[in-house]
Amino acid sequence: MPKPDSIRSDSIKTVEQLTAIVNSVPTAIIVIDRRGSIVLVNRQAERLFGYSGSELLGEMVDVLIPFTFRAGHPALRKRFMENPTTRPMGAGRDLYGLRKDGNEFPVEIGLNPISTEEGTFVVSAIVDITDRKRLETRFRATIESAPVAMVMIDQTGTMLLVNAETERLFGYARLELLGQKIEALIPQRFHADHPGMRAHFFTVPEARRMGAGRDLFGRRKDGTEIPLEIGLNPMRTDEGQFVLAAIVDISERKQAEADLRQSNEALERSNIELQRFAYVASNDLQTPMRNIASFVNLLQTTYADRLDTQGKDWIRRTVESINALQTLVKDLLNYSRIDSQQHAFERVALEEVFTHAVSLLQSQIEESGARITCDRLPVVNGDRSQLAQLLLNLIGNGIKYRGDQAPVMHLALKRDPGGNSVFMLEDNGLGISKKYYQQIFEPFKRLHTQKEYPGTGVGLAVCRRVVQRHGGKIWVESEPGRGSRFYFTLPVTAEETK
Ligand code: ADP
Repeated sequence: MPKPDSIRSDSIKTVEQLTAIVNSVPTAIIVIDRRGSIVLVNRQAERLFGYSGSELLGEMVDVLIPFTFRAGHPALRKRFMENPTTRPMGAGRDLYGLRKDGNEFPVEIGLNPISTEEGTFVVSAIVDITDRKRLETRFRATIESAPVAMVMIDQTGTMLLVNAETERLFGYARLELLGQKIEALIPQRFHADHPGMRAHFFTVPEARRMGAGRDLFGRRKDGTEIPLEIGLNPMRTDEGQFVLAAIVDISERKQAEADLRQSNEALERSNIELQRFAYVASNDLQTPMRNIASFVNLLQTTYADRLDTQGKDWIRRTVESINALQTLVKDLLNYSRIDSQQHAFERVALEEVFTHAVSLLQSQIEESGARITCDRLPVVNGDRSQLAQLLLNLIGNGIKYRGDQAPVMHLALKRDPGGNSVFMLEDNGLGISKKYYQQIFEPFKRLHTQKEYPGTGVGLAVCRRVVQRHGGKIWVESEPGRGSRFYFTLPVTAEETK
């Protein structure tokens, strides 16, 4: 059995050299014989454990081991000596050292057996990992307190760290997850693809959202699925490459989206039904109205000589009301037709549409002495007859709501700050006060009485539906007595947008 000092017996010189070398190593080194007795302690080890070398030489190594672990140590040492190999000590266990002052500290220990003529010795390299442990503790505490589920996996997809939120979200206890593959938290149908994707992530590790463009799901312990959003963060450490995944349950958001979609669909359905109803109703009203009109007309012509003044006056008023009703029903029909009787979009030269609308208004133009001009207008993508209706209504209003002077109107092509085409029809008419800017586009909203200016209040509502159907917007800027500017946007074809 070699004695602690027998290592020196070979050659003093060799031992001195050996001691010098061992002392120059920045790691604490302790050499023990097969009984566990300390035969060499370097300076780093003296400093680390707070002993001088002479205090330790010849002592059992157990003095450097905290009391709680000391009892088990001889058995472990014996096992190591039976099959001595170079390896880290205490696989899977946390190791601690004991200082002379009684303080314990976490360590990592590498064991190297050396065989000499005098038997086997074990060289232990001891690293104080207090700082690393402190960082690790802080890291774990941060992960633990995160308000979202966090899971750390290695390249094989094994879960090394999960937080409380992960336990809550997936319904597993932590110990059921640690050491398991991440596939435990993924629905079966994604299992085949996942390892490939994981391998890909490790080849280009960068912080990013997982599953761009795909819906992601997790699988709870009870088998139910949860929609998820997952952020991936690569972590490079001494021990290799890991991924830290931050997992957010988006069930509530998905539910809210689904609810919104449902109520939108319901709204859309009821809108379509309402439009169909308005169309059918106004269409069906036309026939009886025409009948009433023609019978009253018959009364007027055939019975004219048999009616007194009162009777004639009542008939005149009936005719007026029927005319107003017919206009109203016609306008209503026009309004409901915008959605129910639409044509497919085509390339429409707006300048032609403008000329056509002006020609239809020829008699009013002549009567009022109006002057109506336009810039060079582009080709737009749209419904020709609806665009004609739009210009007809806007120009018609410009003539109808004129002031004392003859109407002067110009349709200009402008650009908004974003470079989009905006059309502007400017008139020199009565103008509109700011508080009515929105209202005038509502159906049946009028600013004048039937006596002052006949109308139904549907014209601008039609304009708004037409523009909206073309994906555009319409609005007005005006001031009473200073004319109005009606603006609208339309989808101008690409070759026109320069
Ligand atoms: P209507 O002409 O049948 O009343 P509109 O929907 O076309 O219906 O117009 C709504 C209201 O907006 C009109 O009653 C009028 O008071 C006002 N309005 C429309 N165009 C002009 C305009 N160019 N100048 C002044 N007021 C206008």
